[in-house]
Amino acid sequence: PPEVVTFGETMAALRAQGALRLGGSLGLSVAGAESNVAIGLARLGHRVRWAGRVGADELGALVLRTLRAEGVDTAHAVTDDTGRPTGLLLTEPRLGTLTRVSYYRAGSAGSAVRPADVLPALAAGTRVLHLTGITPALGPSAAEAVSAAATAAREAGVTVCLDVNHRSRLWTADRARAALRPLLARTDLLVASEDELPLVLEHPGADETDAVHEILAAGVGEVVVKRGARGASVFTADGVTDRAAREVDAVDLVGAGDAFVAGYLSGLLTGADTGARLHRAVTTAAFAVATRGDWEGLPTRDELGLFDQPDGTTIR
Ligand code: ATP
Repeated sequence: PPEVVTFGETMAALRAQGALRLGGSLGLSVAGAESNVAIGLARLGHRVRWAGRVGADELGALVLRTLRAEGVDTAHAVTDDTGRPTGLLLTEPRLGTLTRVSYYRAGSAGSAVRPADVLPALAAGTRVLHLTGITPALGPSAAEAVSAAATAAREAGVTVCLDVNHRSRLWTADRARAALRPLLARTDLLVASEDELPLVLEHPGADETDAVHEILAAGVGEVVVKRGARGASVFTADGVTDRAAREVDAVDLVGAGDAFVAGYLSGLLTGADTGARLHRAVTTAAFAVATRGDWEGLPTRDELGLFDQPDGTTIR
């Protein structure tokens, strides 16, 4: 069985070299928060399954082919047979590491994912179910899929990880809160950026310490707070563990959060303590930040040690 099961929308990703409105060539890849995490985990040697819906089109074939090539199990991925297309996103580098992303995902196959697509993917023996707050924003059936999967995982004793991953283009903070708060009671591990914590609180004005206490009191065992270039912290009933980010020349920040989650879950699966989980998480995130693409630069397990090599090292 897979160690980790995840699902969500994976889109075709077109990357411009400069401003989109100037035209020119585009590079074609795939992107989706959950599949980025899946690829990150597969590269680190874990058995991971991605479920979700793609269109019956060439871009859907690209999504599945890419995931399979990365060693991700797609046995339960569904191809939509009602004409919904695979979603699309366009990215353009604008200023340094400031990137603009445009989405073409309304009415996509991925946004039509439903409980019957994902529940069969949760095999007996699965250790972690990874969910993101993007999926419930995609539509009612996708929101039901998240809720049903969280319930099924909870009943089966599977660790439920939820990355808030707020997308303000998809829904308002109030709608996100209404959908995400009820999930807390079924969540073991919550991952959020500092600015995303209020999205799961009853009283969004609380400071960070109060916010974390409220989340732990709701039954979440572990709260991971990401702080960009300042690193991350993990809060549990036993206290807090902080970790600085790795120092790297940032090239492309997109995907850092997903890479972080892949590293963190990898640490959890190997029985590492919170400090060692964070160490692996900031390391995989640094690979994402220092390379182009959402997942292309993620490390294999052998490559994790590259950060300890002096700058300018040639590996022969
Ligand atoms: P995204 O949504 O863009 O994927 P995020 O907002 O979810 O990212 P961040 O807190 O920005 O998440 O970044 C996640 C992790 O990536 C941080 O905890 C840190 O370890 C690493 N990171 C981010 N920015 C940098 C940076 N400039 N240098 C080194 N590490 C970084």
